[in-house]
Amino acid sequence: MEPYRIKVVEPIASTTREQRREALVRVHYNLFGLRADEVTIDLLTDSGTGALSAAQLAACVSGDESYAGSRSFLRFHRAVEALTGYPHILPVHQGRAAERVLFSTLLKPGHITLSNTHFDTTRANVELNGCTALDLPCAEALDLDSDEPFKGNIDVARLEKALGGPEAGRIALVIMTLTNNGGGGQPVSMDNLSRAADLCRSAGVPIVLDAARFAENAWLVTRHEPAYRGHSPRQVAEEAFALADGCLMSAKKDGITHIGGFLGLRDAELARRCEQLLVATEGFPTYGGLAGRDLDMIAQGLAEVTEPEYLQSRADASHHLARLTRAAGISLVEPPGLHALYLNAGRLLPHIPPHQYPGHALACRLYLEGGIRSVELGSLYLGKEDAQGRPITTAPYELLRLALPRRTYTRDHLDHVGEVLARTAESADRIPGYRITEQPPALRHFRVKLAPLPLPPTQSPLRTGVPRPAAARRPAVEETTTASAPPDPGDDGR
Ligand SMILES: *Cc1c(COP(=O)(O)O)cnc(C)c1O
Repeated sequence: MEPYRIKVVEPIASTTREQRREALVRVHYNLFGLRADEVTIDLLTDSGTGALSAAQLAACVSGDESYAGSRSFLRFHRAVEALTGYPHILPVHQGRAAERVLFSTLLKPGHITLSNTHFDTTRANVELNGCTALDLPCAEALDLDSDEPFKGNIDVARLEKALGGPEAGRIALVIMTLTNNGGGGQPVSMDNLSRAADLCRSAGVPIVLDAARFAENAWLVTRHEPAYRGHSPRQVAEEAFALADGCLMSAKKDGITHIGGFLGLRDAELARRCEQLLVATEGFPTYGGLAGRDLDMIAQGLAEVTEPEYLQSRADASHHLARLTRAAGISLVEPPGLHALYLNAGRLLPHIPPHQYPGHALACRLYLEGGIRSVELGSLYLGKEDAQGRPITTAPYELLRLALPRRTYTRDHLDHVGEVLARTAESADRIPGYRITEQPPALRHFRVKLAPLPLPPTQSPLRTGVPRPAAARRPAVEETTTASAPPDPGDDGR
């Protein structure tokens, strides 16, 4: 059971199927355009969407809003230094600001950064500095179905080759993303991290952690890496930070706050140069774009996030939803991580080719069916087409991410998601693909407009996708909000 009870509640939007259908048309089938009061269960992201604890709210009230040298900063600094061991801590308004400050200071045009997988803002900030971001995920990451516990690892052999290769002189930084968000939320083992750190040290290249989900990574290490069984998540986390030269942190994830982040560094000279940029663009170094109360809430959140009971219940929630997903006949990236499930939409919807965006088609249907908001991670996000809509590049997999906000939804909410997944899978062959009607030149998924395509009339009423266990073939469960709406082909928006 969840190791907390609820003291403050917020109403959840209840909408009819007809309202959701109209909302989809209004936002041109882009779920980023929905208003929060049109969404029943919001699984768009786990970033900044968690619930605060009573202790965090108390810390919020004791926030000291002095411009310089606030007590809040001292408490924040003490908490972050105790966790990371880094003497130089620069607060920033969120993770990508830490990326910008560090990369603008450390990188020169033409440099290369290496990573297990760069997160998208991390890659963008590397490229904005005229540099190249290269991902070196381990080979196990390519098999979505295998149960390998550490698919977030970097490929150590390729890292060693790169650090000793002809381009070695251009490699300025190695970034280890914990957990590997771009790689399905998979964890990195301590063995892998320490090998990578050894190689970097021998090559004289700094290594930093992109530590947004350091506690979830540490939890998975205590579960699956034999040498760390019996260690506490906090011990593992401290050891991970100790292996690196610094960290980039988005506190909106494992800080369990709504905004904030920091840059942690060992090197005094690098920290001094970063601080100069911080003052010019984020704020004075004792607040860095945050309010005193934010710093206090981060300090408290960092203490709570490594509590084993909390992490256990987070793992339980993700495993519960993973079981419901599999029972619905939908496969997901295995093993399920803690912050999100990645559903294999390409496999569920074999009648929709990549450039008609099966992940997005599934996202729209989950919203129509049950008011669930999720996000595509497939060819809408990563692909490219020519002016006639013919594919140039497609994503390696067509996935849909169901992110799990921290301490926000209960088991009942997840059961609702499971019911919607089961109903959706029953009629998967009636889900249409989409075409783009208008798109911005960059980061298109945020503002792209789409329209559903007609389903081919010869479509068999029997789905030809993954066979489902008989037990999962349950009759459609009617929610109160959709009781009067029979499933009809008009669902496809045609
Ligand atoms: C969210 C995230 C970031 C960026 O942090 P923001 O707070 O959203 O700016 C960087 N890296 C990883 C791994 C993330 O998950």
